[in-house]
Amino acid sequence: MKENIYNTSFAELKSFFIDLDEKAFRAEQLWNWLYVKGIDELSGLNNISKNIINKINEQYYLSQFKVSRSLLSKDGTRKWLFKLEDGKEIETVYIPDKNRGTICVSSQVGCSLSCSFCHTGTMKFSRNLSTSEILGQVMYVKNILKDWNNKTDKKKITNIVFMGMGEPLLNYDNVIKSINVLTDQKGLAFSKRKVTLSTSGVVPKILDFKEDTDVNLAVSFHAAFDEIRDILVPINKKWPIANLLDALKEYSKKRTHKRITFEYIMLEGINDSIKDAKELVKLIKPYRAKINLIPFNPWPGSNYKASSPDQIKVFKKFILDEGKLVATVRLPRGDDVLAACGQLKSF
Ligand code: SF4
Repeated sequence: MKENIYNTSFAELKSFFIDLDEKAFRAEQLWNWLYVKGIDELSGLNNISKNIINKINEQYYLSQFKVSRSLLSKDGTRKWLFKLEDGKEIETVYIPDKNRGTICVSSQVGCSLSCSFCHTGTMKFSRNLSTSEILGQVMYVKNILKDWNNKTDKKKITNIVFMGMGEPLLNYDNVIKSINVLTDQKGLAFSKRKVTLSTSGVVPKILDFKEDTDVNLAVSFHAAFDEIRDILVPINKKWPIANLLDALKEYSKKRTHKRITFEYIMLEGINDSIKDAKELVKLIKPYRAKINLIPFNPWPGSNYKASSPDQIKVFKKFILDEGKLVATVRLPRGDDVLAACGQLKSF
């Protein structure tokens, strides 16, 4: 059976050519066609002979994603619902900004972790995405935005965040393989400083992650007390805050130059008091960290209310003034089309 070529690493492509008794530099040529020029079919590769192109086509295929629905927010954020080859659907978001453009990619169909503030968490977990399905999201958006062969300062897509549907560390191998392709400087060439993986706290995989890749790490922290985090992020029952922080300590020892982002959703009356802020500062102070406060984005059927802008200001001020930590407030983007943080769900 033919393989989707986006599932193939550079090393695997090299072996493919060596097995054909071809020179290894053919892999570089094909890689360039795929990830620098952004071809959408495996033909017309004018520096590769017809005979070799036929052999490539015998082994691999290249196909574009099919779109079930696309939405455009009034702030320019775009969201696509993609139909995969087996009919399952996932969502991908593009967030344009003044000096950058970010794609928020999904890593699973649905999610098994049922975080209570998250729309995806209400879906059943269906399956992991393959490497080609993760990369396919980026390739589609690059095609639609015509973001090929642009100079670095003209690129429309500069950042990739693994913050869409699913827990990326529960699809570890495919996510790491896709990160390696995204950050390969002979190909898509995303900077490792511009790729961020966000986890709800899969402790053993954080320890693997620190060894296997050097992209940024964000943690869906959301509560400073176990009894609250158990409800918001139920994986906390398996790996409570103390375990998670121990793993992050190990991560920091290895990745000393990296600042960990602690994401904290602001929910009225749940986790937004000064008592919460005090505990948060106490826990996070030993880390090279940044706290990203996220105003809650409601979705149909959600049980929470967003903290008021005034309460978010007070919370942030405490972290900055008393905690002397870096804290930012994430601006909601695309919330009118349910494309903002925590709102993704396909149905
Ligand atoms: S926040 Fe992330 S891990 Fe939690 S349910 Fe939503 S998609 Fe899954």
